Amino acid sequence: MAMFEVDLSTAFLIYLILSLSGLFFAWIYYEYRKKARNFSPIEKVIYRCKICAHSYIVERDETLSKCPQCGSFNDANEEVKTG
Ligand SMILES: [Zn+2]
Repeated sequence: MAMFEVDLSTAFLIYLILSLSGLFFAWIYYEYRKKARNFSPIEKVIYRCKICAHSYIVERDETLSKCPQCGSFNDANEEVKTG
């Protein structure tokens, strides 16, 4: 005789609880990610180098950024919206 028996309805109930809790934690994680992004103090923008046209990501509060490829400085007017 089996010590632990699971009939079909119990198995379904367990499956339901597991999938619902999985959904719940996914939702919590999504909300957390959304909040973390909204309250992030540093916004990153994409710059395109005027000299070599190389695209790179810098922090928004930098008014001058140095191109990692050719080393020339680009100003904030050249920023491209990431969306
Ligand atoms: Zn460059």
